[in-house]
Parts: sequence; C-alpha cells; structure tokens
Amino acid sequence: MIEFYKVTSQELEFWLKAEGEPLFRKKQIFDWVYQRSVTDWDLMTNLSTELRQKLKSNFRLSTMELVRESESDDGETTKFLWRLREGTYVESVLIRSDKRRTVCVSSQVGCPARCAFCASGQKGFVRNLTSFEIVEQIIQINQYLAEQGERVTHVVYMGMGEPLKNYNAVVASIRQISHEEMLNLSQRRITVSTVGIIEGIRRLTKENMQVNLVFSLHAPNQQVRKKIIPYARKYPLDEIIDGIEEYARHTKRNATYEYILIEGINDELKHADELCELLKGKQCAVNLIPYNPVPGVRLKRPKTKAIKHFMYILRKNRLTVTCRYTKGDDIAAACGQLALQEEIECDQKAS
Ligand code: SAH
Repeated sequence: MIEFYKVTSQELEFWLKAEGEPLFRKKQIFDWVYQRSVTDWDLMTNLSTELRQKLKSNFRLSTMELVRESESDDGETTKFLWRLREGTYVESVLIRSDKRRTVCVSSQVGCPARCAFCASGQKGFVRNLTSFEIVEQIIQINQYLAEQGERVTHVVYMGMGEPLKNYNAVVASIRQISHEEMLNLSQRRITVSTVGIIEGIRRLTKENMQVNLVFSLHAPNQQVRKKIIPYARKYPLDEIIDGIEEYARHTKRNATYEYILIEGINDELKHADELCELLKGKQCAVNLIPYNPVPGVRLKRPKTKAIKHFMYILRKNRLTVTCRYTKGDDIAAACGQLALQEEIECDQKAS
C-alpha cells in the first residue's frame, strides 16, 4: 500500500496510464482528495467502481485517527489529538482569527531540541512524521472546517517537533500543500519555524520556495541562548543569523525572530538593548511570546509591565514588534504546550 498524499501529480499520471485510465481522472481524484477532503475511496461517486476498487487496493488515504478534539473557552482555538498507526500521538492546533484559519502542524513525534521552556521535547524524540502525515493533519482539519463552509487558509510548522530536523518530509509536504492541483495554498501563507538548524536553513534557501521562515531566537546573545536551548551549543548564533539573513535576501521575504520572554532569564533592560543591537539595520520583525506555563518547568512569565516595557524599548529602536498573545492555553494548545500523550494524561489526572 502506498500513502496517497505522497503521490505526486506525475506519479498519478503514470499510474493512471499504466492502468489504462484516461488522464482526466487525475483531476477528479485530486479534487476529491484535496479540495473535498474525502478520505474514503468509496465516496468518490464520479469514478467508476472499477477504478475505485483499484485505488482502494493500491493507495491508503488516511493513516491517523482523531482521538480528541478540544476547544478553548473563547472558541477561537481547537486542538486535535491524533493517534498514528503505531499508536503514538501528535497534535495540531486550529487557530481562528478574523478570516484566517491557521493550522499549526506537528512535524515530529516528540522533539530532539529539548528546549528548557517547551513541553514538546520533555520526553525526547520519538520519530519523524512522514510528509503524508503532515499533509493529512491539514486535510482532516479541512474536513472538519467544511461543516462550517470554511477551509484552512494558513499553515505554520510550529506544533510538535523541529521541522528542519525532518527536512525532506517537511519540504515534500510544503510542495503538496502549495501544489495547485493539490491543497493549492500559496507558499506565502506557509511558515516554518526553526530553532536554528544551519544546514537546514541553507538547504531551504536553495529550494526556491516562498515560505516564511521564522527563527526561534529567544536570547540576545549566545551565552543566554545556550542556557535555554541545547542546540545553541552546536549552532553558533552569528552563523544562524547569517543563514536567516541570506534566506530573507534570496526569497525577498522578511525574516521573523521569535523571542519568548522568561522572567529573570532574558526579559531585562540589558537584554532588550542587546537585542536591538543584534538586529540593528536588519529587514526583520520581532515576535515576542510571553512564556506559556509548561507542567514540570520552573520558569515564569514576566509581569505585563515588564513585557510592555521590553516591547517599548524595541519599538523605540525602530524594530517592528508584535506580541503573540496566548491563544488556547486553557486547552494547553498555546506555543510550547504540545506534549506527548502520556504527559497529557498525567496532567489530567493531576488536575
Ligand atoms: N522547533 C520549532 C517549532 C517550535 S514551536 C522552533 O523551535 O521554532 C513554535 C514556537 O513556540 C517556538 O518559537 C518555540 O520556541 C515557542 N515556544 C516553545 N515553548 C514555549 C512556551 N512554553 N511558551 C512560549 N513559547 C514557546
């Protein structure tokens, strides 16, 4: 059995030809799968019974099962927990804001980065997701949204995992998501967030894609960064920033630097000043994320006054700054709160 979401347009053409089927079938099949989000071959009524049978015995359409769907109190965020074939779990988050329907996808089960402030890496790394498992998160959420006459409009690789440590599958999934015969979402509406895997950033620069790249900076210097991000020891900050700048130049997209604010670690005046110095003259935006609490982690979110002051200093220095107000933290769907299933169950028992 081949996973259908992996099959390229050309491969499907070859297959249809080999089966003696006319080529217009490709459009019909892609339409059912990617536009109408149908995950059962039997429901594709404009295909002949014979073709449906052949598709059924050759291609698998769905590989993960929805275990739980939780909605935040304000109704703006929905978290989906999926069980994968071998019984592990990943999560995706749907964020509604105005007309945007953004899906935050996971790219790995667990995470090798093990950042001090993040739930995803607490139990370590389990495995890479395949490209079709990434694409399927979007298809299934499209299926869910279709009931309200809506569709996913944006995709961010900010769920569980480090996307550039699963490079091939992530790039393959971006191609499927943006392919005009498939999910047909503009690459400009797709964002990849990375902890700073230099070789991955360089490779991505050469792909000639138009996706937004976000760098999880989180510290104004290498020394503070090393305290909270283990990968900082392997990848020096100045080299990562060079890579990010090169990506921005090459793709003509603005770079975005994410900066999580943690009390007493990186939220002081001197850190704000140093950050301004680091980013001076760069075509970029800074996205501040006040730390979201993670069970078992003894870190604190700064007081609102300190957050506002930090933002003020950055703005005074003419940096473009946004602050990502927490979405979905009542269902543990905010940044950094996605964890492996065992942890979620432990949390629920404890509360
Ligand atoms: N591995 C990728 C994607 C991670 S999640 C990366 O490192 O960029 C997306 C963002 O949420 C990252 O910037 C991540 O550092 C941040 N994040 C992780 N834990 C967080 C927490 N507890 N509070 C706020 N932001 C967090």
